[in-house]
Amino acid sequence: MEYLNKLNNEQREAAMHTEGPLLILAGAGSGKTSTMTHRIAYMIKEKGVDPYNMLAVTFTNKAAGEMRERVENLVGEGINMWILTFHSACLRILRAHADILGYGKDFAVYDPTDQKTLIKNICKELNIDSKKFNPAYFLGIISKCKEQRISPEDYLKVNGDDLKSKMAYQVYDGYQKTLKKNNAMDFDDLLLNAVKLFEKDEATLLKYQRRFRYIMVDEYQDTNQIQYAFIKMLAEAHNNICVVGDDDQCIYQWRGADIRNILEFEKDFKDAKVIKLEQNYRSTSNILDVAHSVISHNKGRKQKKLWTDQEAGNKLIYRRAEDEKDEAYFVASEINRMKGPSRKYSDFAILYRTNAQSRNFEEALSRRGIPYRVLGGLRYYDRKEIKDMMCYLRLVQNQADDLALTRIINEPKRGIGSKTIEKMTALAKVRNESLFATMMDKEVTSSFSSKASANLDEFTELISSYSAEKDNLRVSDMYDGLLVKSGYLKALEEQNTLEAESRIENLMEFKSVIYDYEEEDPNISLSEFMERIALLAEVDNHDADENAVVLMTMHSAKGLEFPFVFMPGMEDGLFPGWRAFDREDGLEEERRLCYVGITRARERLWLTGAERRTLYGKTDYTRESQFLRELDKRLIEGDGIYEKKTRDKAEGAFIDGASSDTPFKPFDQLKYARQQTKKNVAAGAAGGSASFDAGDRISHPKFGEGDVISCDGKIVEVKFADGIKKMALGFAPLKKL
Ligand code: ATP
Ligand code: MG
Repeated sequence: MEYLNKLNNEQREAAMHTEGPLLILAGAGSGKTSTMTHRIAYMIKEKGVDPYNMLAVTFTNKAAGEMRERVENLVGEGINMWILTFHSACLRILRAHADILGYGKDFAVYDPTDQKTLIKNICKELNIDSKKFNPAYFLGIISKCKEQRISPEDYLKVNGDDLKSKMAYQVYDGYQKTLKKNNAMDFDDLLLNAVKLFEKDEATLLKYQRRFRYIMVDEYQDTNQIQYAFIKMLAEAHNNICVVGDDDQCIYQWRGADIRNILEFEKDFKDAKVIKLEQNYRSTSNILDVAHSVISHNKGRKQKKLWTDQEAGNKLIYRRAEDEKDEAYFVASEINRMKGPSRKYSDFAILYRTNAQSRNFEEALSRRGIPYRVLGGLRYYDRKEIKDMMCYLRLVQNQADDLALTRIINEPKRGIGSKTIEKMTALAKVRNESLFATMMDKEVTSSFSSKASANLDEFTELISSYSAEKDNLRVSDMYDGLLVKSGYLKALEEQNTLEAESRIENLMEFKSVIYDYEEEDPNISLSEFMERIALLAEVDNHDADENAVVLMTMHSAKGLEFPFVFMPGMEDGLFPGWRAFDREDGLEEERRLCYVGITRARERLWLTGAERRTLYGKTDYTRESQFLRELDKRLIEGDGIYEKKTRDKAEGAFIDGASSDTPFKPFDQLKYARQQTKKNVAAGAAGGSASFDAGDRISHPKFGEGDVISCDGKIVEVKFADGIKKMALGFAPLKKL
């Protein structure tokens, strides 16, 4: 139990308190997450609890991954335990039981881009001007409703029948119906449907209650009603629930997080034990004091103060730059100044309020050849070509997915006009079937021009054949095959433009993404792969080992820590944002966010702002952030607050001779790697066309080696170690040995 000696008394007490409800309530960096990981290890090693019987949930895949890593380090081996985000836990449960709610088990998960497209389609059908009402407006309403379990009908009842509410009702209603029809769920549905499933089917609930005898939730302050219900139902049987959180770090109220969940834990779970942690192990005392001086301006909070036995450390540096370019320039030069041989670039983080701020930093950093990673923003998976190929895969998985179908039916161009698609959509609606089902009907397709009809048939055949073979193929092989046989790759190659070239590169890079997943799990199925991609929250591609400065929003940085932290954009209107002033408690929530940002820093902290800022195409003079004015001035060095500043050309930190055309080396290497993969894709997709004879010894990328039993030119039957498989020729890259 040596590992428990690293904990302080309170932490140890919490780790060893395994039975009954437990609340660990404590400020940032006090070791809440560490205590939880030690607690899990303690239960496994000392109490003999089977990891299979435990469930730990948190908010981002990254946090979940880190938690698993820490536990496995403590235990000394890999463990079979659900350490997951809320969304993935719900998704796993639904995959197994969605039929009870009337979904197919291969249901698709729609990400925010899909949601927008869906809303646009519905608005079009309802003749709603999408310029006046943008999809985000409706999605906001819908998401709020789902968080509070308000159905479209309830929404109408509550909001009465003014024109606007009626319209929102119609959109919401249409949206839900289409999702169901497409056999798809959005992120909110995952949570909601898991709860509905438990309510509807007692046997399923019992099954999971029996399994999860110990339940743990990190960042409990950010749970909403539905997440609360999910946990509560699961925990009811055993009452062994441990939640950890910090009311000062609740930053998701705008998304329905309910701070009462943590404040009323003791009421909800009888005989709960509450343990408070007060020592901070993360930051210098100056940083802690800065954090405290900000958060203590919040009125609705429980008084608490952290202490540390670390030294005071440096003061925070404040810089009011001339404009946003200047600000980015300053940050980049400070990183250069601090870097030194003993520091990694990944020790630095730039945490901003909105993704729109990232661009200037990217520019400034790449000019100096400083490697960086942006987490969030326009996600890699939102790129057109990636999205298109994902839709091919989605349709292979779930043919009811009309949204995926309409996206790719004419991508690449197949001479299928919008009229044709409209006609078929109308027909599918009348027949009450999916668009794909209608397209499969040769009588329907033959009514179009012979070219269109041939292309349609070719398309449905392509999808059906891959769908039939999906269990026999690796995801990467399917991807290669679809890329080539759909004509997508060829169409891009024929364009022969720079843009097309970069799209091809992205598609090749995506192939390495698939490889990564297959390396981790060689048997990963299409639906598992799709799940993993769909659930990638913004922060998920953060690889701490990569030596690069990290750029992300303060929201995504929750729970993480970095030696050096920059918080740019300290201006009224940006941080706190204007919208904070419209809402009751809006400002307090922004202040909590500021507290979260500051407390990510271990050694040094920079706050910066710009005198003049261009954002969303508008240039304005700015006022220093209210939060700066609230800070204890004795903790700050650099520019004085309220001081007007003009750029001082002579100042060392600003000028360090970096030339604007510093080449960014790693890129060239990446490009080379992609070209190599590209060659492999073409080779892979072409493979497998040979025929085989009975008795041939072959190898299959997924199933290993086997003996051909029969082959009729179309279907090959093979005996593998784990059984006999029938496969279509020309799909699986089989190799004769
Ligand atoms: P947050 O509120 O930001 O999520 P937290 O309370 O979960 O923070 P942790 O991330 O668990 O805090 O811990 C913060 C840092 O303090 C980590 O680097 C951790 O290793 C260290 N730490 C925690 N407990 C101790 C301890 N008893 N002794 C030394 N270091 C500790
Ligand atoms: Mg934590």
